[in-house]
Amino acid sequence: MTAAHDPGYAGDSNVGRVRADNEDAFLLAPPLFAVADGLGGHQAGEIASALAIDTLLEAAPRAADLKALGRAVRQANTAVIEAAATGRGKPGMGTTLTAVMLEGTRLAVAHVGDSRAYLLHLGKLEQLTDDHSLVADLVRQGRITSEESRTHPNRSVITRALGSDMDMMADTFEAQAAPGDRLLLATDGLTSMVPDDEIAHVLATSPTPDAAVDELIDRALDAGGQDNVTVVVVDIERHGGRTPKSRGAARSLWARVLWLVAALAVVGTAAWAARSYAASRAYLIDEGGYVAVYEGVPGTFAGLTLHERSDVTTIPVSALDPITAARLGQGIQVDGLGDATALVETYRLRAAETSAAPTP
Ligand code: MG
Repeated sequence: MTAAHDPGYAGDSNVGRVRADNEDAFLLAPPLFAVADGLGGHQAGEIASALAIDTLLEAAPRAADLKALGRAVRQANTAVIEAAATGRGKPGMGTTLTAVMLEGTRLAVAHVGDSRAYLLHLGKLEQLTDDHSLVADLVRQGRITSEESRTHPNRSVITRALGSDMDMMADTFEAQAAPGDRLLLATDGLTSMVPDDEIAHVLATSPTPDAAVDELIDRALDAGGQDNVTVVVVDIERHGGRTPKSRGAARSLWARVLWLVAALAVVGTAAWAARSYAASRAYLIDEGGYVAVYEGVPGTFAGLTLHERSDVTTIPVSALDPITAARLGQGIQVDGLGDATALVETYRLRAAETSAAPTP
């Protein structure tokens, strides 16, 4: 890719030289980036990692809000557990998830498992995340060195993943980068094959994120490609908080309502009517196959959105009757969040009945 077309971020995944399936997944949705490494074998691991990434994308906040990002990861955990319970994938499937949301040079990070986030700052590589793995525990206890951990027979045993425990807690933290830094997200198929100093060298010398991703994957394959390898590289300050999407999203519902009020001040009463109308409304809508709840009214008014996502539930639209499913495609408007919540509960019961019914 030439510099002229360099968007400032890139990602790729490779099955490697040994495995038959690629159970890794990744997400490039600036300002949100993530990698996931599925566990559980054929037709399980890849479902778990894809579901985690999809749910993260649907549930993620629009700005680098750490608590909301943590909630989105918990929602991804619930989605993996519920999928296994309802016959999608297999029992025992799971996935790592390392997600970073950027806002300028500030990073909100949520992390579970042994995939990693690193920051290259002034040529030096800093690992941002702590592995949730047996060997990382042994290193922390001083029982083995980090060099020994790379070849330890139990190096792939992870101590925390999405998909097993409803009460699973992700590590969530903020980090501060500097303009010109490079962010790396990678699954263990990179970090177990390529030493950190070599990763640092590639990141520091590649002209673009795209070139860095290709080179890192090539090196993992050259080193044996024992596992699926997934790499995401992002140049800081060219992404995060600077895209039109996140700039708009940083404005709250109330800021937008107030802006609308100001713009329409000449017709005062109409503005107040619009504001109070939007504030008193809510709606349910199909978002990526799940029932989502929004505060406000759907669509746009005078080019402004007057709604804000409240929640994406774990209720699959496909579990509801076809008429309700079709209406959810357009959005079902109700009088406020209280009514929306009540409607969600009836859908939840209906969905549970559908999944409990014997399949013909
Ligand atoms: Mg792996």
